[in-house]
Amino acid sequence: MLHIQNVTDVDDKLIDRSLQTGESVEEIAGRFTEAYFDLLRRLRAEPPTHSPRATEHIEGMVALVERLIDVGAAYASDGDVYFRVRSVPAYGALSGRRLDDQEAGARVEASEKKEHALDFTLWKAAKPGEPRWPSPWGEGRPGWHTECVVLARAYLGEEVDLHAGGNDLIFPHHENEIAQAEAAYGRPFVRFWLHNGMLTVRGEEMHKSAGNFSYAVDVLDRFGGPVVRYFYLARHYRKPLDYSEEGLNEAAAARKRLLTFAADAEAALRAGGGGGGDDAAGGLRLELERLHERYVEALDDDFNTVEAVAVLQDLVSAANRFRAREAEWGAGIREALTLLRRLDGPLGLLDEEGDEAPSGALEEGLLALLIDLRLKLREAAAYELADELRDRLAALGIVLKDTADGTIWLRDVGEHES
Ligand SMILES: [Zn+2]
Repeated sequence: MLHIQNVTDVDDKLIDRSLQTGESVEEIAGRFTEAYFDLLRRLRAEPPTHSPRATEHIEGMVALVERLIDVGAAYASDGDVYFRVRSVPAYGALSGRRLDDQEAGARVEASEKKEHALDFTLWKAAKPGEPRWPSPWGEGRPGWHTECVVLARAYLGEEVDLHAGGNDLIFPHHENEIAQAEAAYGRPFVRFWLHNGMLTVRGEEMHKSAGNFSYAVDVLDRFGGPVVRYFYLARHYRKPLDYSEEGLNEAAAARKRLLTFAADAEAALRAGGGGGGDDAAGGLRLELERLHERYVEALDDDFNTVEAVAVLQDLVSAANRFRAREAEWGAGIREALTLLRRLDGPLGLLDEEGDEAPSGALEEGLLALLIDLRLKLREAAAYELADELRDRLAALGIVLKDTADGTIWLRDVGEHES
């Protein structure tokens, strides 16, 4: 399977932030890209096969825009290039918005540069101070909708099997991807769209401005990757995901039930518990087969992970009933455990490596320990060792500072007094 995640490393938001902070667009984009992939790692999510940056494919984007102009689906206007939505009869099919309805209630300000209020930007002329690339229409940058089409085609070929994204992107973003790809290449762009629901808090959308948001990194610090995975997978991806502490605690408890069964079963089997009992296992085996089928059907049904997670819980219930009932439970439990681990493979709920102490807390603990050791070395007049400890931490980018309130540590951010 080829899985591509685009990185939009140039857009209006990045440019605004760069103008405000003086940090370059490249630096800001690089920092957030790194933070994002770090979160994926901590969620124990498989990384994409490729994660191309939009700025690595500007030439391809210019070529697509040229092609759209050639086929009459786009027009240049004063350094910008717009897509002509009127050129696509099916425009609006994905979102169920008809062009005529849009016109009637057009909130979008018609501009003198555009033929139609919904015509969208394919190429944007650069304003002073903005990142820019050369093009037949002057220096500028591609529009976001264009980036996705070019990157998808560069890595996935003519047709995309599954295209995922938040349901807030259906209109206009995904609608505009389809319009461009189909106008340029005359064939369907995407076979299946997977749109995930929005994250909410008590039914309200999570927004920085609403003050009801949490940082993913804090949630991962507190609960660990596998519990957060459980929380997500026990809900259907198309539905809104209502974030709550109770929800995460419930996920942790439900996951623990699976882990406890696995650990108990392993320990008992290691200790030679239960006989071979192949005859006794027959009834359980039938139940396991049915559970396995249910699991496969669930995932075949638009990734119904809610049901798949329920199957794992039912499997544990069935195995526990069997164990309580049969004197010779060894073979049956071994099969149940094997199936549990196998079905968990794609879900990653039992993955205990993900439970390692969150890096933030571990780092705090280790540094407190080292600061304490250095203090004890100094008290014992082992000044050389104490200094060596400080210098070696400095070489790792951690600066110790002795203050009136004791020693504190700081991350070395380049300039500091020694
Ligand atoms: Zn996109």
